Amino acid sequence: MTNRLGLHANVWVRDWTRDSCTLAVNRTAELGFDLIEISAPDPQALDIAFTARELERAGISANLSLGLDEACDISSGDPVRMAAGEARLREVVAAAAELGSTHVCGILHSAFRKYSEPPTAAGIAGAVEVLRRTGEEAGRHGITLGLEVVNRYESNVLNTAGQAVEFCHRIGLPNVKVHLDSYHMNIEEADAAQAIVATGADLGYFHLGESNRGYLGAGSVDFPRLFAALVRIGYDGPLVFESFSSTVVGQPLCGILGIWRNLWEDGGDLARHARQFIETQLKTAREIGDEARRSALP
Ligand code: MN
Repeated sequence: MTNRLGLHANVWVRDWTRDSCTLAVNRTAELGFDLIEISAPDPQALDIAFTARELERAGISANLSLGLDEACDISSGDPVRMAAGEARLREVVAAAAELGSTHVCGILHSAFRKYSEPPTAAGIAGAVEVLRRTGEEAGRHGITLGLEVVNRYESNVLNTAGQAVEFCHRIGLPNVKVHLDSYHMNIEEADAAQAIVATGADLGYFHLGESNRGYLGAGSVDFPRLFAALVRIGYDGPLVFESFSSTVVGQPLCGILGIWRNLWEDGGDLARHARQFIETQLKTAREIGDEARRSALP
């Protein structure tokens, strides 16, 4: 099992100007990550050709992620917003195809916001239809969609791994998968490791985030159990470190995510530590996985 290790671009930059792109891509590559995840709420704001050249030069790849905005809420049941959301998702898939990305992920199933009502059956059914068509388009480019399970304050559609497995099964495409995030799981799952095991082969993307979204290990997420579960199910997809600090990100993201305290100032130190942490945790979990084989009776 070899996972590609990734880093979210917000560890380095808050926007995607040419200077930001060059800095983020180079520093991500220098630290030995295989990919950078670029936030693409509006893919037309990305200079795709320039980004592709910088990635090529640095020898890493990129995935795109986004949360839909309210005007693009495909779970709303409103035909105007569903059509706008479908168009937005298609733009992101097209941009990802141009970059040679393997994955588009994030809150693709609803708006990225705090809702004041639960989702409706009709809204869910509409989102499933839109994502089936988008997933078919993504599949033509060899792209997997990762539907991110987030906490209750950031969506009302997918808050648990079990909901996401059911949602993906309703879509019924091999390239539309569950995207889990340890930060969100720490809030919503009764047993995060068990949720990973239950998701099994439906897991397609994984965000590593600490409970306070700062340094990995410097919070309350039980990473040894989560890594053991990832190894146990043979997860071989991307593992992407995600962290946010007011040193880098500004509005509107700070407001939506509630980034009020500053948990780090030096993204380089944070990312270097994350890379070591992930490698160590993976190695440890694999050794645990090998324990039974090593202990077989002669
Ligand atoms: Mn995430």
